[in-house]
Amino acid sequence: MKLTKATPHITQNEDLIFERSRRGRIGYRLPELDVEEAPLDALIPRELRRDDDLEGVPEVSEVDVVRHFTRLSTWNYAVDHGMYPLGSCTMKYNPRLNERIARLAGFADLHPLTPEEDAQGALQVIYELQEHLAEITGLPGVSLQPAAGAHGEMTGIMMIRAFLDARDGKRHGRSVMIIPDSAHGTNPASAHLSGFKVKTVKTTPEGLTDLDQLRELCATGDVAGLMLTNPNTLGLFEKEIREICRIVHDAGGLVYMDGANMNALVGWARPGDMGVDVIHLNLHKTFSTPHGGGGPGSGPCCCTKELEPFLPVPRVVRDGDRFRLDYDRPHSIGRVKAFYGNFGMALRALAYILTHGPDGLREATETAVLNARYLAHHLASDYERPYDAPPMHEVVFTDKRQARKGVHTLDIAKRLIDYGFHPPTIYFPLIVQGAMLIEPTESVGREELDQFIEAMRSIAREAEEDPELVRSAPHTTRISRLDEASAARRPILRWRPEN
Ligand SMILES: *Cc1c(COP(=O)(O)O)cnc(C)c1O
Repeated sequence: MKLTKATPHITQNEDLIFERSRRGRIGYRLPELDVEEAPLDALIPRELRRDDDLEGVPEVSEVDVVRHFTRLSTWNYAVDHGMYPLGSCTMKYNPRLNERIARLAGFADLHPLTPEEDAQGALQVIYELQEHLAEITGLPGVSLQPAAGAHGEMTGIMMIRAFLDARDGKRHGRSVMIIPDSAHGTNPASAHLSGFKVKTVKTTPEGLTDLDQLRELCATGDVAGLMLTNPNTLGLFEKEIREICRIVHDAGGLVYMDGANMNALVGWARPGDMGVDVIHLNLHKTFSTPHGGGGPGSGPCCCTKELEPFLPVPRVVRDGDRFRLDYDRPHSIGRVKAFYGNFGMALRALAYILTHGPDGLREATETAVLNARYLAHHLASDYERPYDAPPMHEVVFTDKRQARKGVHTLDIAKRLIDYGFHPPTIYFPLIVQGAMLIEPTESVGREELDQFIEAMRSIAREAEEDPELVRSAPHTTRISRLDEASAARRPILRWRPEN
């Protein structure tokens, strides 16, 4: 079946609220005044009053407003809508139970300046979540302060700097952070912001860190550390992780692990056991707290015993059966976030961990990896995989075969929208030409995976038989191909009457 161009219809297109405006239309009517009207001058001084007649404010009725915004809300694609296979983003389902816990009045209404004696429950939640994350990562020092993954990276890198300064003196000259060419862009940004020079280590044809080059880079004496994602952003487990850690440690450096891909490891392998010194987790990925659309994040930082003194203040500590905030930590890098991070995310993550239990967490990991391998297996006949190794929680394909017919990754992603799917991450990692990075997560069942596979195969057939159909997709949306460059470079963010 060929999907046809959308017809202009109210469910297919929507004017701006300003364009719906009709002069004099209102959404309320007040009863007639039955007291004497107060002189306006007595209420608001003349110089503070505007003298135009509110030109441009939309004049609409209540039903106009409700229907306008309700219709707009149905245009969103969300994790509650369907599979959201954005590689590296771990867009898993957010259980409603966790939302309910986060809304409990005793937690939600607690003021952040409440004295410790009256906030024991909240401090216990923070403390217990820290203990669970320490167990999951094998790294005993934990801070929940960082507000996002990238913020956790910066916190960890600042701790590495503070540790090296304390160990080797401030003039140690360790100015280099080594980062693989497959890394998420936030890694070099965090290293640079923390004052390090970034050197790149290459990925081998097998998709793993090049150990020989790593040894060379470590031989110069100026290495502060390595930032490594494991599984890496190609979805492959760095099998030589112990050797990688040994090389960096022998050179006097520390190993930072970007833990955004922990969904492949939870319950099965612990970064602390691999030799990693410090890691951040993304609660808003692996631990199922909502993300996307700029919502709150949480990027806890976990570290070894040696690095613990450098964690941000305050620390939540336990004295017998009481909990308190500890500011007396002379080596700390200081505070990185107001109060104690995004506490609502901590509640959701703790509820997620406790409701799953150790077995449930292991099973979630297993399913996430199984789902990605299922896709890898069933799509291999239609799409090129640049690396052979079995993927972990996400799998990368390219447009190499389709490109011969002039169909590229962007076209395939756009065409998926016609089949009702959110596209995967595209053109990342940067080292893979025409990359499509697909991460189904454990939240999809076999039937939905099969539908996705069928859609991808169908698009591969279309690319052979009718490439233009794919190149001009999407065909079922309100707007087809956007000029994305202009949309990004010259966005029109403000409505003006003359527009
Ligand atoms: C998502 C992600 C980050 C950054 O996390 P934010 O919360 O978006 O700052 C860092 N590294 C990797 C590999 C990621 O997938």
